[in-house]
Amino acid sequence: MSDPQYTELLGLTIQQLTEIAEGLGQPGYRVRQLLDGLYRQRWLGLEQFTMLPLAFRQSLRESGYAVGLPTIEKKFVSTDGTIRYLLAFADGQSVETVWMPDGDGGEAGDGSEDGDAELREQALSHQHSALSKGKPVPGSIGKGPSVSRIASGQTRFRELETRNLKLETLPQNAGSPSFRPQRATICVSSQVGCAVECAFCMTALLGLKRNLSAGEIVGQILAVLNDQQVEMQRDRVNLVFMGQGEPFLNYDNFMQAVRLLVEAVGIPESRMTVSTSGIVPRIADFGAEPVRPKLAVSLNAPNEALRTEIMPITKKWTIEKLMAALREFPLRNRERLTFEYVLLGGVNDGVQHAREMVDLIRGLRAKVNLIALNSGPEIPFSTPSDERVLAFQNVLTRAGISAFVRRPRGRDIYAACGQLKHTTELVQVKP
Ligand code: SF4
Repeated sequence: MSDPQYTELLGLTIQQLTEIAEGLGQPGYRVRQLLDGLYRQRWLGLEQFTMLPLAFRQSLRESGYAVGLPTIEKKFVSTDGTIRYLLAFADGQSVETVWMPDGDGGEAGDGSEDGDAELREQALSHQHSALSKGKPVPGSIGKGPSVSRIASGQTRFRELETRNLKLETLPQNAGSPSFRPQRATICVSSQVGCAVECAFCMTALLGLKRNLSAGEIVGQILAVLNDQQVEMQRDRVNLVFMGQGEPFLNYDNFMQAVRLLVEAVGIPESRMTVSTSGIVPRIADFGAEPVRPKLAVSLNAPNEALRTEIMPITKKWTIEKLMAALREFPLRNRERLTFEYVLLGGVNDGVQHAREMVDLIRGLRAKVNLIALNSGPEIPFSTPSDERVLAFQNVLTRAGISAFVRRPRGRDIYAACGQLKHTTELVQVKP
């Protein structure tokens, strides 16, 4: 490990860049040019900023500044097109960042435009799946088993078939940059490792190494966008801050990254979701932010005792305090909170747990994403059966709570939820 020999321009505020430019005797418009080169052109080095005078570039270099994009150390490509990137920073530390070319399915029903689009896609998938099996489909004559109407008149889709979607129906070139996704998702890390110690999560086994800077958080996204040859004017990209780390324990850097992503990169806040394990004081801060992603809470248990076992952080911030903060959280028009619930076989996946969940979140404008455990080495839990997952989902949906079973992405390359842990150190996976 070595200390970086330079200061990264990525991640600096517009005010900081202005001070640097002015300090080097440059007019104010050079800041706009710097921002364009850093965030829109996504250039790797100062030599590419040819619209800047050579003397200014040299002064920046001599003053110890560099762009600061992370380098791609390794790439693992899943059969479903998901790519797990190992990205290295200047001090030798690295994190994992995941590219999902067909999205992660996590936004369905969250009230956003993309959530609506996901619902439509899931309905089409279901129709396709049902038709291929000769079953009646919703809207056709006969009983449609997977769609129900709720009071608002919206259509709510129970994802009975979603987990069994055939991956081979994806385009053959889904893992290559020439494939143009309709709506890709990048799963972003906020820390190197994590201190939260969720018992089902491989990242927890790393412990916390350090926080990422705002530039390192944004840099992950830029490196992946470059590798995938994404053009922001043409391609839709969603971001989920659900990679390594607890974003709300690196709050200032995380929020600085969000502002740069919105203002300088051009990704709308409505296409971003952050997941927290329940850092209660930050939930109120987050609600007061003028620009912020949507909020997801990784709940995983419906009562204090069980959650404390699975997520020891519950000792500090109890479910009671967490739910009180969420009830105060100022949701925007149509916005819904998302509860993430990782189902652990025989631990938190019983119908009695589902009933407790109903009681816990009743009255909140919220939806639930159910994730059958993505198992991994050293994780002492098993993946529940499909029957248990569907029984859990049924309890929620019958109680009028939108609940979606998320199809795992990139399980074969250890890129799925809870699996990010430099897995090359643990098991052999093919690059
Ligand atoms: S689930 Fe998230 S908060 Fe919990 S240990 Fe893993 S990375 Fe940290």
